[in-house]
Amino acid sequence: AKSISHNSYFIYEEAMADTIRAHLTLGGGLRKAIEEEQFELFYQPKIRLSDKATVGAEALIRWMHPELGMISPDQFIPLAEESGLILPLGEWVIRRACYQLKEWREQGYPAISLSVNLSGRQFMQSDLVEMVSQVLAETGVDPRYLELELTESMLMADAQQTIEKLHAFRALGLTLSIDDFGTGYSSLAYLKKFPIQTLKIDRSFVNDLGVDSDDEAIVKATIAMANSLNLKVIAEGVENHSQIEVLNGYHCEEVQGYLFARPMSHDDFSVYMNSHLMG
Ligand code: C2E
Ligand code: CA
Ligand code: CA
Ligand code: CA
Repeated sequence: AKSISHNSYFIYEEAMADTIRAHLTLGGGLRKAIEEEQFELFYQPKIRLSDKATVGAEALIRWMHPELGMISPDQFIPLAEESGLILPLGEWVIRRACYQLKEWREQGYPAISLSVNLSGRQFMQSDLVEMVSQVLAETGVDPRYLELELTESMLMADAQQTIEKLHAFRALGLTLSIDDFGTGYSSLAYLKKFPIQTLKIDRSFVNDLGVDSDDEAIVKATIAMANSLNLKVIAEGVENHSQIEVLNGYHCEEVQGYLFARPMSHDDFSVYMNSHLMG
């Protein structure tokens, strides 16, 4: 038994070393990656349930690493947060998203909204509103089509300053949504204080819809209260038809998930747009 535990400890140590090496490699490469713009935004459609129309998309960042290939955001956004590189990276995301909206408009696509994810540290940045406003001016994008996805934890951090910042974004004309709704601690009553327009029900609640009645009760209550507060509801992570049936039954407006489309590269999204939007 001793040699086994010794052995498994050794394996554990090796795995740790690998993780740490990967961590350092990615972390060290991140600054260079930002300078060289080794990133791409992928786009996942948002579907209106009533007519299955594509009404928007979410921008999701990917790191196209020259040696390691495509790296998902869960693997480097935390590193970017720790190092502060999330600030230049987050600015790149917003600028790229706005240029994308401008390109779609110039190509004559029907207007769809595009949402970007903000990180906590980025949201705290003092000149964030100014930066966004400058990018909007630079690209000439109609601010109504730019949406910011925030999380509950960001909103709870410093309530008064948060509310002011949200109002400043609203004054610019942006749309604000709360991502991963239900995973944090905010109540809907508390949410009334924030000038937000949309709730995104977290994937973890959508997952077991049609199977687990607890989750169904949460989804039902969220949609009902959101409707009474005049908030739009979108369910994320929809993968099958029984989830759709439940969501339809509670009048959820929009959905996003693999059942309809995965996040797509710029080129794949153009193909998607041509077949879904242009008739
Ligand atoms: P999120 O904002 O909750 O994004 C939704 C995630 O769920 C995405 O993963 C998306 O690809 C995935 N997803 C969509 N539909 C389905 C489905 O039907 N089933 C399943 N299993 N998954 C689905 P992704 O692209 O790997 O992004 C992970 C997280 O990374 C995001 O979670 C977001 O928190 C963060 N992230 C992505 N892009 C950015 C960014 O530009 N800036 C910041 N700060 N964070 C970002
Ligand atoms: Ca999101
Ligand atoms: Ca989410
Ligand atoms: Ca999530």
